[in-house]
Amino acid sequence: MLKKKKKEKKQKKKKKKEKKKKWKKKMMKKQEEEEEEKKKNNTKDSRIVFGRNEINNRHDIYHEYGLIITGHEYAPNKQGQLPTPSSSIWSSTQSDQQLVEVSTKKAYLQRRSSRKRIECSLTATIGLLAIVASILIFVTVYYFKLRNQIGSLCLSAQCIHSASSLLQSMDRNTNPCDDFFQFVCGNWHNEHPIPQTSINSDWFTERSDRAISAVAYFLQKNDSDTEPVAVHQSRTMYRACLDTETLEELSLQPLSDVLEEIGLTLVPPINESSYYSDYSISHIMALAKVTTTKDLFVHAGVYADVFNRTNNKITIAVPESKSMLPSHKGRNARHRTVESKLRKALVGGDLHVIKSWKRYINMVVKYIYNENNVTVTDEEFQNVTNKILSIGLHVQKLLTDKNISGEEIEKPDSMSLADLQNLTDAAATAYKLEPKIDWREYLETAFDNANTTVDLDEEEIYVYGVDYYKSISRVLANHSDYEIALAMWWEIIYTLTPYASEDLRTMRNIFLTEALGEPSPLPRESYCAVAIWSIMDIAIASAAADEYPEVEKTKKEVNQMIDNIQSSFYYYVTNARWIDAETKAAILEKGKVIRRNIGFPEWVLNKEEVDVYYDNLTVTEDEHMYNFLRVVQMANKNMYSTLYSINNYTSAEFDPREVNALYIPQENSITIPLGMLQFPFFHTGLDALNYGSIGSIIGHELTHAFDITGRKYDKEGNVNQWWTNKTIDKYTERISCFIKQYDDYWIDDAEEYLNGTLTLGENLADNGGLKDAYFGFQRRKEEKGYEEKYLPGLEEYNSNQMFYIGFAHEWCENWTPKSMKWSLGDEHSPNYIRVMASVSNSKDFADVWKCPKKSSMNPDTKCQLW
Ligand SMILES: [Zn+2]
Repeated sequence: MLKKKKKEKKQKKKKKKEKKKKWKKKMMKKQEEEEEEKKKNNTKDSRIVFGRNEINNRHDIYHEYGLIITGHEYAPNKQGQLPTPSSSIWSSTQSDQQLVEVSTKKAYLQRRSSRKRIECSLTATIGLLAIVASILIFVTVYYFKLRNQIGSLCLSAQCIHSASSLLQSMDRNTNPCDDFFQFVCGNWHNEHPIPQTSINSDWFTERSDRAISAVAYFLQKNDSDTEPVAVHQSRTMYRACLDTETLEELSLQPLSDVLEEIGLTLVPPINESSYYSDYSISHIMALAKVTTTKDLFVHAGVYADVFNRTNNKITIAVPESKSMLPSHKGRNARHRTVESKLRKALVGGDLHVIKSWKRYINMVVKYIYNENNVTVTDEEFQNVTNKILSIGLHVQKLLTDKNISGEEIEKPDSMSLADLQNLTDAAATAYKLEPKIDWREYLETAFDNANTTVDLDEEEIYVYGVDYYKSISRVLANHSDYEIALAMWWEIIYTLTPYASEDLRTMRNIFLTEALGEPSPLPRESYCAVAIWSIMDIAIASAAADEYPEVEKTKKEVNQMIDNIQSSFYYYVTNARWIDAETKAAILEKGKVIRRNIGFPEWVLNKEEVDVYYDNLTVTEDEHMYNFLRVVQMANKNMYSTLYSINNYTSAEFDPREVNALYIPQENSITIPLGMLQFPFFHTGLDALNYGSIGSIIGHELTHAFDITGRKYDKEGNVNQWWTNKTIDKYTERISCFIKQYDDYWIDDAEEYLNGTLTLGENLADNGGLKDAYFGFQRRKEEKGYEEKYLPGLEEYNSNQMFYIGFAHEWCENWTPKSMKWSLGDEHSPNYIRVMASVSNSKDFADVWKCPKKSSMNPDTKCQLW
């Protein structure tokens, strides 16, 4: 029954979408014609839209690379600084349009009256006086009306920038009560094409691309004595990354060195009898971890105790598919990593991907044999590739099996080293197989490397994913050392390929494009900037403070916003009937001690502190691969060496350029970096827009403190039951409404339903965030004591309506079916659902937009938590 209903719904939505598409096409054509006409008639106007010739040279380079595809007014200036977000081209023209209109009318009236004065007869004079009087009244009324209107318009550079952006984005032919996303973002794609290096574009990706160009510019600058050594090292890393000539000269040597360090050889042994290593399998696994940070089959580390965050614990968990080496930071985080896409496709039996994967492994293996003048028969060669593929698929299957690896395992199993060893041994011996994992050997190697003495028999070990460890132990025991070594060899080669010679890089890129449809790789300059930004973010953080305008003022304003938004949350919690008094008091207490990290961590401005942070790091001009490896080795070593440290949580560590915001439950902190404090999230000129955009994001992060994960951490950041069972039951009941609501969204482009359970935590944060921000905005207006001004061209919308426009605008997106498909694996709902679902749950929204009952954005059922 439900299925049938869903099917009907799906067909209905499909039809609606097709209709919309046709209409959109028609509108686009109409708009194109209008623009064409405008171009012909008014050269000044055409400059507004097509004024890209004003881009400065530096920006031109990035524009050519498809990195910055819009907002040329944001190109860094000569000092690499980004000017205040304001669209000078639009602002002068927009106000010009108003002024031209007004002055022309006045001149016309004056000319007419002076002409009349020349004709002179008595009756004519009386008649004329009457006419002049009425004209005067008309002019006076018109003048005052106009003056009032101008007085209530916001004509600051920021407002005009916001107005221009919104006018270009909005589709005002759509009824906001029918489809609010289309109403605000319907034309966004026209001005925001998708760059070749991406599969979608939205504000987050665009702003990150802008940060990439600022980072690249900073890394190209000359060193100065006042900068931390780590900044100079970042620049050295950048030059080494760009020096592809040296990379070619070194060819396979760095790869060979790394493999030798971990007990493997560059040329993979052809068969069982030719395999030999000085080290056991567990030792190779541990050496691979300390040398490359790549998890091979297991993940072990030292992390803060979830039950008592001041202490650290040896923690075993299901391994990550990637190492600490950088992936594409700054690009769209919502899209899955290459590794997870690959895993999904391989395990899902995607024949195209499996074939390409095999072809790719073949190609690399053959290449390495050839380069080393090793002759192998076809049979031997196929044998090697098949073994790599087979064990790889086994592991991938375990990692994707939710029953074994789990999406989120909340509480660890606590055990001794002997218990852990028994657990994995038993899984193998039950099948009369010889166990391969030796935990003592693995952990001793890791701690020795970190110069940390530890009595492993005395340590309590936290294990997440007991079922995974039983399974992986069985899989490994089922394979020979030779087979496992081949699989490890491939994992290391695959992980380090981006840092290797051109041949290997090209093979990888071809595979990624062919099999996964990845967009074109970034040009080398940008690739290197992203990689170094990602791995040396704290070293280059100090420069970020100069890249954003009015940092101190911004921080102050954001703090005030947080106060207002938080007080809304307190109001809703205090008045919620479903929370009992005891839990209410605890929630309010936790809310009050949430730490705020705004802008950038102050300590990064201290040269000495940054140098201590990167202490003992060695970077050279001609060791590209090792430069990166040494940074992650250092991080890994530091992690293991903290086993007996006390965590004090007094200072924050975050990347100021990140275009993202976060809540960390263990720290009970929200982080709003500078990257988030720029247009269109902030500096929009109007409180209404600021509260709608960054305000709703602040609300989102604050709400995370009480979402399905956050509510398990108490105000100290420890996992603990601090709510009463009664309130937990009510909470569970209320959130089921959200699961059902989001489960029912059919995503046309991905041909899938949204997963309301996977996205629950984020959806709760979206809904709570919007509600709190709206209430916070009302407080802000009370505080100011006067109404907001209007935006030119958007005078018909009052401040409450502008609040919601600002909210939707930050989520505008130009997507493709591919990007939509990948984004569905993420915990965040697709942007347009984030808008539609949140506003249709909001009674405030329905009131503000006067949406009729049962209209799409004002349904009868509204999910409410807070
Ligand atoms: Zn979130």
